[in-house]
Amino acid sequence: MNQRSSYLSVLFDIIAPRTCLLCSQFLSHPLATAFEKESLENYLCSSCRNQLEICERSFASGRSSRIDKFFSGYQYTGSIARIIPAWKYHRRNEFFPLIKILIYLTISRLNLLESDFNLVLAVPLSRKTLRKRDFNQALFIAACSSFALGLPLVAGQLVKNIHTPQQASLDRHARAYNLTGDTFGVIDPEVVRGRNVLLCDDVLTTGATLDTVAGTLRSAGAVSVTALTLARVEL
Ligand SMILES: [Zn+2]
Repeated sequence: MNQRSSYLSVLFDIIAPRTCLLCSQFLSHPLATAFEKESLENYLCSSCRNQLEICERSFASGRSSRIDKFFSGYQYTGSIARIIPAWKYHRRNEFFPLIKILIYLTISRLNLLESDFNLVLAVPLSRKTLRKRDFNQALFIAACSSFALGLPLVAGQLVKNIHTPQQASLDRHARAYNLTGDTFGVIDPEVVRGRNVLLCDDVLTTGATLDTVAGTLRSAGAVSVTALTLARVEL
């Protein structure tokens, strides 16, 4: 960094100090990242970045017979276990660009650009949950994925017909019985018929939700269903 850049960097720190979204530590303002909005360094300090545990590979469908492959960006531990609840339950708007970067990094790292998906869908929320939360976190992840992959995002076709207790509030056994074949539906099956679907959600835990949605998509004619989640809970 030359002297002028260094001076501007100090000036940035004074007039527009930025802090880590998780621990509030001040972030330095190297100009290279100050204008590069797609960098994790603009949102997390090095310590919090180091507490992101990457999932390096896909997982066979051990948690579902109706999903061909699971892809997850990060283990649900460390920083990601603080980022997702802050974003999802407290709707901290400053987390949206961070989530977008984490999804872009995941898609690039897992070589998903090489895949043969035809369209991207999000696990839907019931109307009641959507009213309460005001946004569907899975739809945001699906939108980022569709943009990164250059594939159509199909929103509003996959719906949750029945409001069920939140999966996160249930144990493993109860999660499996919380959802039935009627819980989700596809409004126009032609949209998914014969397609390879990338189905997005925020967290993979037992896989019960993704499995149930995949069943609905396959009944509607989808050829394959691959799951992409931002994080994965180790069981
Ligand atoms: Zn931090």
